[in-house]
Amino acid sequence: MTPERTGSVVPGRWREVLHATGLLAADGSTRPTIFAEMSALAASTGAVNLGQGFPDVDGPDAVKRAAIQAIADGHNQYPPGSGIAPLRAAVAGHQQRYYGLEVDPDTEVLITTGATEALAATVLALAGPGDEVLTLEPFYDSYAAVIALAGARHTTAPLSPGADGFRLDQAALRAAFTDRTRLVILNTPHNPTGAVLTRAELELVAQLATAHDAIVVTDEVYEHLVFDSATHVPVATLPGMADRTLTISSAGKTFSFTGWKIGWISGPAPLVEAVRTVKQFLTYVSGAPFQPAIAVALADDDSDTWVRGLAASLSARRDLLCNGLERAGFAVVRPQGTYFVVADGAPLGFDDGAALCRRLPELAGVVGVPVSAFTRAGSPADVALRSTVRFTFVKRESVLREAVDRLGALRPA
Ligand SMILES: *Cc1c(COP(=O)(O)O)cnc(C)c1O
Repeated sequence: MTPERTGSVVPGRWREVLHATGLLAADGSTRPTIFAEMSALAASTGAVNLGQGFPDVDGPDAVKRAAIQAIADGHNQYPPGSGIAPLRAAVAGHQQRYYGLEVDPDTEVLITTGATEALAATVLALAGPGDEVLTLEPFYDSYAAVIALAGARHTTAPLSPGADGFRLDQAALRAAFTDRTRLVILNTPHNPTGAVLTRAELELVAQLATAHDAIVVTDEVYEHLVFDSATHVPVATLPGMADRTLTISSAGKTFSFTGWKIGWISGPAPLVEAVRTVKQFLTYVSGAPFQPAIAVALADDDSDTWVRGLAASLSARRDLLCNGLERAGFAVVRPQGTYFVVADGAPLGFDDGAALCRRLPELAGVVGVPVSAFTRAGSPADVALRSTVRFTFVKRESVLREAVDRLGALRPA
């Protein structure tokens, strides 16, 4: 590119996206995401990569075979704009079976290109300049980017670490709501903290969202990956909330097919219709042969058993990694769900998680991601979590054992 076409000369919303995601330096230069930087570091040093959260074992063979069969059977052209009817029916059946939620598969369910597109289309459809979109903090990185694309203002309410895990700061949540709050994006089970929001926390969100007439958008991609006695409560099941809630999930995390990008959204017909209006001009449709395969997976008892097995195995892998991190000297907040644990490097003498992550391959041959990748520079949550690092445990036990052995090198003598 010629100099005129780079830097701040190029118009458009891309700089707002870079700014919102912390990728724009003060001098106007841009940098890659910390995820890309850390994966490159893992590749160049041979470190065990516990940075990016994707499984190193695929989902059920029967579901793979269903996708192969779908290609052979000719499911290779554009599917319907809302998704194929059997998958919409399977999503509605899933919401009914697990949560007692009644959604009409024809008007209240939309199939999307992963949860990511569902989130993007929702924010673009329902928020704009002058609106505030409230998220938890730390937050999944795509939220900040799509709020910037919509030209809305991003406000946050922190999750804070304590004896019973990361919990919603109730006073800060109350203070974060204003009459401009248009959308509240929840994420439970929560990436990166592993928190599973309690019914009491969700009741407060519901009460405030109702008082301020805000729509709740809930990202539940880890809905089945909860541990111990934690229970996932969809906010749409709270009294009165189904009318103002859009629920988003995806096959990626539930069935360990993150590359298939089959997601969905369900909620009141007028809101789903607004999201569909935008979605049809983003991707239109995707995943023709994967849609019938996921329809089978969602409706099938064998896959329910498989998913329960995944959750049980993840819980054991969580323990393996958490115990190893603690032995190495980290302070760990045990996650109740997801693929991730947040570990604090302060007891080891590291007060900056990003600096620790850059040195970790050389010190211990392991890669993680600083929690600052999920916060806004200078916010209270950013300051409070400055020394913390997110590690994933969605890797084979042998990989985690190797990582834990290596992390032992950090232990103070
Ligand atoms: C992985 C993830 C997503 C993205 O889901 P896709 O279906 O792959 O688009 C969305 N939200 C959270 C919190 C995630 O961890």
